Amino acid sequence: MRKSKIHRTYGLLEASKPWIADLPEYVPGKAAKRDAAGKLSSNESPFAPSEHILEAVSKAGRSLNRYPDPLATEVREALAEKLWVSEKSILVGNGSDELIYLIALAYLSSESRVVVADPPYLMQEIAGRALGAKVVKVPLKNYRHDLVAMSEIDADLAFIPNPHNPSGTVVSQAEIERFLETSSIGLVIVDEAYVDFVDDLERTSSLPLVASGRVAVLRTFSKLYGLAGARIGYMVAPSEIVGTLRKLRPPFSVNALGQAAAFAALGETESVEEIRLLVREIRKRMTAAFEKAGYTVVPSQANFVLVQAPDERELLARLEAAELMARPGSTLGLPGHVRVSVASPATLEQLEETLTV
Ligand SMILES: *Cc1c(COP(=O)(O)O)cnc(C)c1O
Repeated sequence: MRKSKIHRTYGLLEASKPWIADLPEYVPGKAAKRDAAGKLSSNESPFAPSEHILEAVSKAGRSLNRYPDPLATEVREALAEKLWVSEKSILVGNGSDELIYLIALAYLSSESRVVVADPPYLMQEIAGRALGAKVVKVPLKNYRHDLVAMSEIDADLAFIPNPHNPSGTVVSQAEIERFLETSSIGLVIVDEAYVDFVDDLERTSSLPLVASGRVAVLRTFSKLYGLAGARIGYMVAPSEIVGTLRKLRPPFSVNALGQAAAFAALGETESVEEIRLLVREIRKRMTAAFEKAGYTVVPSQANFVLVQAPDERELLARLEAAELMARPGSTLGLPGHVRVSVASPATLEQLEETLTV
């Protein structure tokens, strides 16, 4: 049989491009064995979707013989109104992870350079490297993005998760503005997956910086809105960027059930506000519980806490004995730490109990 050119060049088809063979594998958070509430390893919402959302999903199910709206018009209209931005500047994706890939596909090649924090949000490093780009990692400073050092890197694109995952820290909008002024980076992607949980949204979110033409903001329904399983996220960006990504996006990547769930969730302002406050309260209590047990906790602005644990396995085993599954820092590029997602009130009590014995 005649060998294809790619086969002849690289050998095995599994490794069609050598830099793809070298990519690290994404390791998901462990599931809890007996009670799903004990899964504190993936920063999901501990609260199931409301009856109102479930009804909307069930209703949308009746039209599953039809393709979904490729532009998620209802969701975009509701978002445009809520965020005071034009619908043309919003693109909805199959989770923000799809949007990260589309950005890489559109803007990166083997000649590009990307700057991220060390540790980065792994999907951002993987997407950059998948396109053959060089990913430059700049160590966190005091668990925060070192934007001064990052601004000195010669790069085409920067990914800034804010709050940062896995540290839970934030940089201010003013700091990102200064970063834009001092760096020559063409495009800055601010990933605001956890921004709903920060104490001062107005001084943190980069949404107002989109007007600079160099900033795209990513958000998701996976965390505050409790729809991680529905796979829906969005980008707010200059309309040219939205137009470019739209050409690349598989038109039906955001399914009809996810669109229905997200649209219904946007109508639930009161219960969402309650959840936001509750998550912040539980975050405070979790921090206090770990500190009381002698651990040092990185002050978090997200829906998880990062606990210093020189012996990761000891803390993980202690939590696992109580059926609580957390994420080892060594799988997130931060050895000597354990990341614990915000729990439901009942699971919080379990955690407090475990930490006092
Ligand atoms: C959880 C998370 C997301 C959300 O991804 P989805 O694909 O929308 O579920 C994005 N960025 C970061 C940094 C995250 O931790």
